[in-house]
Amino acid sequence: MASNTNYPQLFTPLDLGFTTLQNRFVMGSMHTGLEDKISNIEELTQYFLERARGGAGLIITGGYSPNLLGRLTPWSGSFNSTKMIRAHQKLTETIHQTGTKICLQLLHAGRYSFHPLSVAPSRIKSPITPFTPLAMPTFMVRSTIEDFANAALNAKKAGYDGVEIMGSEGYLIHQFLSERTNRRSDAYGGSFENRARFATEIIERTREKVGVNFILIFRISVVDLVEKGATPDEVIALAQMLEKSGVSIFNSGIGWHEARVPTIASMVPRGAFVELTAKLKKEIKTPIIATNRINTPEIAEEIIASGSADLISMARPFLADARFVEKAKSGNADSINSCIACNQACLDHIFQNKKASCLVNPSAVEETKWLTELSQKSTKQRKVAVIGAGPAGLNAALILLKRGHLVSIFEKGTELGGQFNLAAMIPGKEDYRESIRYWKHEIENLGGKIIFNSTINEENASGELSEFDHVVIAAGVSPRKLDLPGIENPMVYYYDRYIRGLADGSIIPATSIAVIGAGGIGVDTTTAILKHAASGKIPETKEEFFKEWGIHPELRGGLDFNYVPTPSSVKITILQRKEGIMGRGLGKTTGWIHRLTLKRSGVDYINQVSYQEITNEGLWVKNKKYELKLIPAKQIVICAGQVSENSLVKVLEKNGKSFSLIGGAKLASEVDAKRAIREAWEVGVSI
Ligand code: NAP
Ligand code: SF4
Repeated sequence: MASNTNYPQLFTPLDLGFTTLQNRFVMGSMHTGLEDKISNIEELTQYFLERARGGAGLIITGGYSPNLLGRLTPWSGSFNSTKMIRAHQKLTETIHQTGTKICLQLLHAGRYSFHPLSVAPSRIKSPITPFTPLAMPTFMVRSTIEDFANAALNAKKAGYDGVEIMGSEGYLIHQFLSERTNRRSDAYGGSFENRARFATEIIERTREKVGVNFILIFRISVVDLVEKGATPDEVIALAQMLEKSGVSIFNSGIGWHEARVPTIASMVPRGAFVELTAKLKKEIKTPIIATNRINTPEIAEEIIASGSADLISMARPFLADARFVEKAKSGNADSINSCIACNQACLDHIFQNKKASCLVNPSAVEETKWLTELSQKSTKQRKVAVIGAGPAGLNAALILLKRGHLVSIFEKGTELGGQFNLAAMIPGKEDYRESIRYWKHEIENLGGKIIFNSTINEENASGELSEFDHVVIAAGVSPRKLDLPGIENPMVYYYDRYIRGLADGSIIPATSIAVIGAGGIGVDTTTAILKHAASGKIPETKEEFFKEWGIHPELRGGLDFNYVPTPSSVKITILQRKEGIMGRGLGKTTGWIHRLTLKRSGVDYINQVSYQEITNEGLWVKNKKYELKLIPAKQIVICAGQVSENSLVKVLEKNGKSFSLIGGAKLASEVDAKRAIREAWEVGVSI
């Protein structure tokens, strides 16, 4: 069989008997928001086409409900109409011209539906949705099985190579499988065999309808991470039953959405759950897909080579870089724009009912607009100076270079990355370094000039920038300085200095620490203190991650529910002036993890304070409850937001120089990499 010298296992085709996948890369299902309206079908086609051209072996679409009641939201798509079939025929035809296969995901949300007509095996509300579902009468269970089979047949008529039936993550089929949510007394509840009946009948009925030459993927939960979840034996037994019923490929599901254990966020070590897939693979003959936190070709290759899985699913990495596979194939892995698992523009957008995007690749899901603009070289090549080598500056430089301009980047420090550099020093955010590697590689490749130790200020701007036609000010931010009695005390640090000190070992966490500011950086700094104080072993290993979250794959549900986390040996108090929870601005899909981590480690949080003074004993504050109170602290870290570095604006305005202002330099409040990178792209295509 043909293979490739770069990552030979990944580029070995997979023969399914009736069809062959060209390689082992699966673009996993991910809701983008384009699925919901037929009017978005062209944009959806372009989005998939970019990934298909980029060499994905198999694409799985976002979830479509098999019927109206199973929709995730009132405006989600269901695959049960002739209109839908017709709309998708052109999409599948377009994708097939590239050699990539494409499957449609069928997802019935059950009690995870965000609408009042939700249905489930039993009338038990989920902790993450506001609606209590109706318990499905037996006739509805049977009609839903038919709906799955009909929707799969519709997918076949629409030209899809197969369907993925979503049986994990806590959606309807999973709700039937689990004692946690299934209290039925009919043939679909009670014993394990009865609870599994819904899943097996869906596969049997679907196989009957679609015939043998059609891919049937079943996404099976290899670990539930919730109370009353499946035992490891039940997972194996279910897979063996489904294999007999006609499944062609298993995909691995990790945890219910309501599980209070991180499964895909950045603090999850790469490939953390692969061993669970590997364990199941030993018990079945059907190919199986490994998933979650696989974002480099190296780790993907290692998983296939070790025999842990047959295919690798990546969803977010394909948002971050549509050409991931092609770049891996050509031995150009350094040019992959890696997913940093931040969730900020993909999953967090979906939770806000916005279209998905990607923080490091704003063109994702907007291919029609951005790729046309990007492909148009500038009519007039211009010399552009970019001030600042943070995410905004580097992205602006990259887009300008792609459009044919001559670009010089002036960086006052000695390293690239700006705030990303600092973020990468936070344990659990090491992947931010991958973005810096990508920007550096691409900029150097395209001939961009990077000048370090070069401060452009009011004095030298006119001279240094005279030869440039345009200047992009992306000088970023600096920490907001506080004016507080005692602020000069040597135990006081601003967050940038403190985080760097922890990372290079020049600062050791004291036994008591006060953190001023409970925004994203206050929370991140506190996390860094906890990790450094606990082990100093950073980055975290898979074993440490499992221990921290009480994960025991051999137990029912994969969790030790008696596990009590050990509070930190460092007494940390995090404070802010306003009311409300700490890290309120953090994303829906990651904020809870940060807050839970801090709470479990015994971090105190006090809000509505006013800061009075710093003395050798610690930080003196007032709040409604007490006139004056000492927060004992041997170190005080200030994470009180930022101010913009934009002093060049006035000079350039005075000199009549053409310039653009982007990122933190433009707006420091809630300095935001997503906005900064998007602004960089906008400037990049506008010059
Ligand atoms: P931030 O989220 O705006 O928080 C600043 C904190 O400083 C707040 O707690 C604020 O609360 C306090 N503060 C502001 N002015 C102050 C003053 N004069 N004196 C004392 N305290 C003051 O900013 P950040 O924490 O620096 O984060 C910057 C951005 O990066 C944010 O958008 C953040 O969400 C983002 N970020 C995101 C993540 C992530 O994981 N997604 C991680 C890190 C950062 P009071 O004004 O009430 O005191
Ligand atoms: Fe990955 Fe963040 Fe982009 Fe989502 S937004 S795909 S998590 S880099």
